[in-house]
Amino acid sequence: MTVQPYDVLIIGGGPAGLTAGLYTSRAKLRTLLVERMLLGGQVMTTTKVENYPGFPGGIDGPELMLRFQEHCQEFGLEVRTGEVEGLRENGGLKIVTVDGEEIATRTVIVTSGAEPRKLDVLGEAAFVGRGVSYCATCDGAFFKNVEVAVVGGGDTAAEEALFLTRFASRVHLIHRRDSLRATAILQERLNADPKIAIHWDTAVDAVVGDSSGVTAAKLRLLKSGAESELPLHGIFVAIGVVPKAHFLAELLTLDADGHILTDAECRTSMPGVFAAGDVRKKILKQIATAVGDGAVAAIMAEKYLMDH
Ligand code: NAP
Repeated sequence: MTVQPYDVLIIGGGPAGLTAGLYTSRAKLRTLLVERMLLGGQVMTTTKVENYPGFPGGIDGPELMLRFQEHCQEFGLEVRTGEVEGLRENGGLKIVTVDGEEIATRTVIVTSGAEPRKLDVLGEAAFVGRGVSYCATCDGAFFKNVEVAVVGGGDTAAEEALFLTRFASRVHLIHRRDSLRATAILQERLNADPKIAIHWDTAVDAVVGDSSGVTAAKLRLLKSGAESELPLHGIFVAIGVVPKAHFLAELLTLDADGHILTDAECRTSMPGVFAAGDVRKKILKQIATAVGDGAVAAIMAEKYLMDH
């Protein structure tokens, strides 16, 4: 265990975590940010971010996140790669276990984000990496001149479908209802793209394939029950995300979907522990709101340190 506790330990290095780290480092609080994989979070899998203010014409997700990182480096944020396995209290301190090592800190900001929701149908798990993907930006280029499908009706599904038209010969957007959740501007672009075919009121019942990978999707029209098989080589699942807070389930109050419940100031049910970004229960999950959360959580952590 480290002798000198950190003032703030941030779990997760997406937009919320990096913003919190920027604020606490700039406030000269001794801060450690722990990230499991790559800094940048889900934005790293986004081709173009068009609704983060200050970047007319849009900016590539990874480039935006690189700027966040460079900004944090300016203030000396300490970053460590590792998996947070647990959190407990010991006297006035929080003890965070990272890859088996116990690290003491006075406050914690949880910004562990969310991960793609699985379809949970036959064949999905078996063909991950062989035709089933959760990230068009990462895997789209493997599907040149073949037919692919995107499952979902939100902003992510719309953006993935539009991105995949760069490679695929045809993109099938499969949605379980008769209207999309995606914003109007994305719907306009989907409708205008001759490579995109939208399958309304349709469920994917199974992913079909052989030793070469995915070969088809079994579809079912929800209104009539009619079943069909759509030949294709790739299925991109974009049906929302699930929060990554399971490792804190015994400590913090979560909602039924696994989001951490906080008040408006990002305080969780445990004093000195704050949550920010997509892992927190909130109405709008965007980079802009993650950044706002990160700033609030950092200021509240600073206030907690002053009060205790
Ligand atoms: P989302 O908005 O929650 O949409 C998920 C979609 O998947 C919905 O259309 C939903 O159908 C469908 N779905 C959910 N579970 C399903 C299942 N088991 N089987 C089939 N379909 C299922 O998720 P998202 O698109 O990932 O977006 C998440 C958040 O990030 C949103 O707040 C979104 O606005 C934001 N985001 C913003 C941008 C941007 O601003 N550029 C880009 C990406 C994401 P129903 O419609 O029937 O519920």
